[in-house]
Amino acid sequence: MLPDRCSVLEKGKQCVNPPEFIVSIISNKDEYMIGVTCEKHKQIVSGKIEILQNEGKVNDGKISFSSIKVVGTDCIHADTDDFIQIDMK
Ligand SMILES: [Zn+2]
Repeated sequence: MLPDRCSVLEKGKQCVNPPEFIVSIISNKDEYMIGVTCEKHKQIVSGKIEILQNEGKVNDGKISFSSIKVVGTDCIHADTDDFIQIDMK
């Protein structure tokens, strides 16, 4: 199951928007789902992931956003324990 909220924390509070995009990193031939984001936070999430990549906290690779509506949540088997929180403080 996907989380029903965007992965962004704003001032310690979870963003209340429903997620619209699945955030993943494409590295070699693998794709790692690392979170979900709403439309509003897409750019912020992208920037934060680059920082996390530089710090070695997430896999290197191309950041990809897939619309949840297009993908269809029924066929996603994501391990949400691996999802990151994007803290905006
Ligand atoms: Zn959000």
